[in-house]
Amino acid sequence: MTEPVVPVPARPPIPVRLAHAPLAQGLVVPHITLAHRDRTRPVWGKLDHRRLREALSRRLCQVCGQPLDDRVVLYIRPADHLRGISPEPGVHPECGHYSRQACPMLAGRQTRYNPHPPEKFARCEDPACQCRRWQANERDSREAPREGQPADAWYEVWIPISDYTTVHDPGTDTAPPVTGIELRGAKLLKIRKVRDAAPAADGTSHPVDLLRAHLAFAAMFGYGGLRL
Ligand SMILES: [Zn+2]
Ligand SMILES: [Zn+2]
Repeated sequence: MTEPVVPVPARPPIPVRLAHAPLAQGLVVPHITLAHRDRTRPVWGKLDHRRLREALSRRLCQVCGQPLDDRVVLYIRPADHLRGISPEPGVHPECGHYSRQACPMLAGRQTRYNPHPPEKFARCEDPACQCRRWQANERDSREAPREGQPADAWYEVWIPISDYTTVHDPGTDTAPPVTGIELRGAKLLKIRKVRDAAPAADGTSHPVDLLRAHLAFAAMFGYGGLRL
């Protein structure tokens, strides 16, 4: 009888820009990830909303927290493309390169959204840590629950910093409000798919990947820089 194979989390090489970033289990703790005051103790999968707002308004990289450069990399799903907003702040190209390898969702190793997100937080012993004020997020009733759902396709989009604009979409009866980076009208310097959508477990077909269809259509007409 052979031993079951336990998947080892990837620990990709850390780029120079992230040399001083906090590490947890050998992985960089992104700047906007919720963490205790000792940032080597993150709550994986949870965002620090104050840091998220600051990253958007001050044009900071969501991984290293430093100001973005001329070229900004965004990671988006087909639904973000349809809505014209990237809900996540941009990253430096080298921070994106690292994230593509380290993030199980972007690397394609994760096929479902976390079915049991941590909603109860462990408090630490540091009296100056903010963790005593952490609260579970209230879900917007217009938001489809993602937990346990098959992973979406993800794309990498490069835009110039001159087109990096934060917008707020107040939402509709069926769509929750979102604040993020305006995709409509932004000059796309490069687009490529970084992972496919995971198949649904019950055999139902995944929503049509309209971004892929859009890019395939654009490619027929000689739209540059496409690598699907
Ligand atoms: Zn704490
Ligand atoms: Zn960065």
